[in-house]
Amino acid sequence: MFSNLWNLLFGPGLEISYSRINAYRTCPQKYRLQYIEGKRVPPNPYISFGISIHKTLEDFHLKKNGDIDDLFESYDTCWVNEGFVSPHQAHEYFEKGRKLLENYWQDNVNLKSEVLYVEKEFSFPVGRNAMRGIIDRIDRHPDGQYEVIDYKTHSELWDQKKADADLQMSIYALACKKAIGIEPGYFSYYFLSHGTKVNTNRTDEQLEDALRTAKDVIEKVRRGVFTPNTGHCPKCDFRKSCPHSAAKRQD
Ligand code: SF4
Repeated sequence: MFSNLWNLLFGPGLEISYSRINAYRTCPQKYRLQYIEGKRVPPNPYISFGISIHKTLEDFHLKKNGDIDDLFESYDTCWVNEGFVSPHQAHEYFEKGRKLLENYWQDNVNLKSEVLYVEKEFSFPVGRNAMRGIIDRIDRHPDGQYEVIDYKTHSELWDQKKADADLQMSIYALACKKAIGIEPGYFSYYFLSHGTKVNTNRTDEQLEDALRTAKDVIEKVRRGVFTPNTGHCPKCDFRKSCPHSAAKRQD
């Protein structure tokens, strides 16, 4: 108890991010396993597919003025071939990715905006702690407005309500203000599997809310509060190894 209080008052600053906040809000034990004990999330097809597509688009846009063959060459280089249950499953995902990228190419080949940043890292202080993250892409439109883009590779297409309420974009909006020094005119989730963008915006109140949420998670982590949320166990990546798992016997 005393050490928790000491840590809260005088312990070193904490590194926080959207992923860490999301892990804590899903299950505080998940945060502890992943970010304090350093356990790696076991590889799976969704993670490998997501990383492959993100890395491909980063590599491709860094080349500047590439054509579709350059895009596929980036894909071959960036493909993460782990976590699949069989070569057949890996092949299916790989082909799905090629189709997704072909559609991406067609939708972006005549892009009017300039791709200003890809995988843009940021860091800004939250008290004596640091909020860190990476924004997938920031474009500058011909009228000078900036657009923050977050790629999504999952098959779920969010509705407007979900896009408007998502914490991740609020943190990106804070990062633009506090770390990157731009005021975006547009915020977009780009659902690559659908070739659809959902535009959203953020109010000052939402940014204040996001900061409050971050501070609340930081405080609980510093106090060592890691109460398991066993309701999430059936979907958890650590359900086979976590000592608190309520889903071990269901596998
Ligand atoms: S298995 Fe359950 S208790 Fe353990 S980290 Fe995952 S959700 Fe939390």
